[in-house]
Amino acid sequence: MPVLFGKLKLHTQILVALILGALFGAVFHVDQTKLIISTPHESGVAEIELNNWSRIELTLGNQKQSFTTKETSKLLKWWNASSQTEREKSEFTYFEKGKTIPIHLGSVQDIRKESTLATSIKPLGTIFIRLLNLIAVPLVLASLIVGAASLGDIKRVARIGAKTLSYFLLTTALAISIGLVMANLVEPGKQVSEESRELLMAEYGGEVAAKVSPDLSIDIIDMIVKMVPTNPFSALAEGEMLQIVFFAVVGGVVLTFVREEKAKPVIQFFDGLSELMIEFVQLVMKIAPYAVFALIAATVSEFGFGIIQTLFWYVGTVLLGLAVHTFVVYPTLLKLFSDMSVTKFFRGIRPAQLVAFSTSSSAATLPVNFECCEKNLGVPKSITSFVLPLGATINMDGTALYQGVAAVFIAQVYGFDLNFTHQLTIVLTATLASIGTAPVPGVGIIMLVIVLKSINVPEEGIALILGVDRFLDMCRTVPNVTGDATGSVIMWATEQKIRNTR
Ligand code: ASP
Repeated sequence: MPVLFGKLKLHTQILVALILGALFGAVFHVDQTKLIISTPHESGVAEIELNNWSRIELTLGNQKQSFTTKETSKLLKWWNASSQTEREKSEFTYFEKGKTIPIHLGSVQDIRKESTLATSIKPLGTIFIRLLNLIAVPLVLASLIVGAASLGDIKRVARIGAKTLSYFLLTTALAISIGLVMANLVEPGKQVSEESRELLMAEYGGEVAAKVSPDLSIDIIDMIVKMVPTNPFSALAEGEMLQIVFFAVVGGVVLTFVREEKAKPVIQFFDGLSELMIEFVQLVMKIAPYAVFALIAATVSEFGFGIIQTLFWYVGTVLLGLAVHTFVVYPTLLKLFSDMSVTKFFRGIRPAQLVAFSTSSSAATLPVNFECCEKNLGVPKSITSFVLPLGATINMDGTALYQGVAAVFIAQVYGFDLNFTHQLTIVLTATLASIGTAPVPGVGIIMLVIVLKSINVPEEGIALILGVDRFLDMCRTVPNVTGDATGSVIMWATEQKIRNTR
């Protein structure tokens, strides 16, 4: 690292890596129309590079489909879902650009996009995300048990718990309202041409079925019932965050009723475990700049910027909303409820924001957020260990805001008029949906289905926004973690005030 980054601070290193990664990905971009076809050959397998084509006809099973150069993703999805026997009997035909004579390749063994230098370094980024996720579950468990136990008396637990939950709910509802206002003002759905709409539906329509499961609905009672694990160990093994949080908080509180000589070693054990995880993070963060470089390079290389242009107004509206929430709402709350300077706050949590952007995962960012809040902002562990893991699991302002904009956008494209009751329904369901969203990449869009169902907008509409979801996921995860950090500062400040007035 010293060779490349010298003595730059960690967050500057990550930022530089991010920019360089994006440039690297743009230079070594994947040519979306170039396909690598493997066909059987006497001496094994022959690979053909196909780039000068206008149409492909593919037969798989009993079905024959035709694809243009704009439909390569659709072709690959169809191919990847096929069975080995279907592939063996496949028929591949293509037409060269400007020519009408078909070229038959017969059965093909594999069809894939080209890989470039930028996509080949992705494993380094994947290892980084896996390492951070590895830390998340034991960290949430240990820190919440110690956090709840160290809050002391049950009255204090109840007070901080109620304050934290109210903060989470209010900021989430506020975030969705900002999203709705923006979407109603900008009207991004009215900017999509009929042609783009059809192209997007053709490209991503097939993928929607996989995302939309029929039994997806919100039942508050069921949600509460399912928060109680029947077996905490299986909850840990499955990474069921809400269940882990429940077990840890209740376990921590109950520990305060246990005789001291029995409770102490348990608390010490979990305290040690949480220290271990924090040290682990420090080690993992040493590769952060390289991993971020690899992640961003691979993403830009694979997806490019083209689709963002088509959905310019939608992407712009989401970004505007996220920016207002991050740079206006949080600073205002900090000013109202704490003495912390806004500059100090943003400087302190920058590494967490950058990791959130690069990994699209609040859970993976949790360890870094801990470090930022405790070391850079000075929030005591007794507060962070309670507020941050809880926030990472249930507080997702960015996701909620995005769901608000996306719901209105899809409704606008379909020509639905949303009245006040519809918009209120969005606030309610998006708040619940964001609580239920797992803090990992790409779940926000699945939970969006619930929001769409609640206002009777066709859920196939998510096909319109799937193409840019990877990018927006990165962006919305930033306020998701910023909101948790803001919450921890506010809880700390208000607790101090209570102590001082006593
Ligand atoms: N990636 C988001 C997070 O981890 C969740 C989502 O919106 O998909 O916070």
